[in-house]
Amino acid sequence: MKVAEQIIKRYENADVYNQKGSMRIEFDEHRDIATIYVGSLPIAMIRDIEIQNGTYMSMMLITAQDFKEPRLWKSYKQKLAKAANDAGILVLFTRAIDFGFGEPQVGMMQYDVDPIYDKLIEIAKCSNDDVKTAAAVFNDKGELIVMSYNQFLERDVWSSPIHAEKAIELFLDSDWNTSTGPYIDWQMILEPCYECLKGMIDRGARRIIFAARHKDKWNTVDYMNLRNDILVGDIRDKNEYHIRFYKWYNEKVNKFMEV
Ligand SMILES: [Zn+2]
Repeated sequence: MKVAEQIIKRYENADVYNQKGSMRIEFDEHRDIATIYVGSLPIAMIRDIEIQNGTYMSMMLITAQDFKEPRLWKSYKQKLAKAANDAGILVLFTRAIDFGFGEPQVGMMQYDVDPIYDKLIEIAKCSNDDVKTAAAVFNDKGELIVMSYNQFLERDVWSSPIHAEKAIELFLDSDWNTSTGPYIDWQMILEPCYECLKGMIDRGARRIIFAARHKDKWNTVDYMNLRNDILVGDIRDKNEYHIRFYKWYNEKVNKFMEV
């Protein structure tokens, strides 16, 4: 897989590489997956995903888990994510990656809103888009499935940034996703747009939390109508649950948005 090699090359030019550590890639030709290691630790995987009939895109899954020396890891991950975006690869962060040694260790992250915002701010910093935001999705057992951020891919097919929530939806719908829904909890930094909000509801959202208002231009008629329908309870999930959709106060997010 040439694309993974391209990423490593870009990454090797980054300062952090020269400071410490060594990265290497292993290809599994049978599964057509590239695994990226730092030392002996696998930290990311890349493979091509069919997103529509005959349309493929490359996705990278990076472990969100912190190992030793958290500062260094944050820097590693941010640089890896940026290099992937430059190479036209969509990036997602996950607690659990199946590295081919049987069942993945399922990352249990008890759902707690503020600590998740710490993580989302960290991930939003990877963004190469003007609008820096990130989103996370959890299943009905409170397990974190995946997180992502606004990212611009240098590819002809994507002329505008892929929203964090849209990136998550692409992953959930792909055959790389081995978790089962419903995907009930969604948490994001920035209030979603109409398309993303609709996408979350289609995938079983029961609770959607954001921490900062989006710009007025996103308050389209479609958006306002959908939001209103949610708030008055006209839109429910398939089990007739009310969908809760609200703004959460988080001081760190407020500070992050000021920058
Ligand atoms: Zn959106």
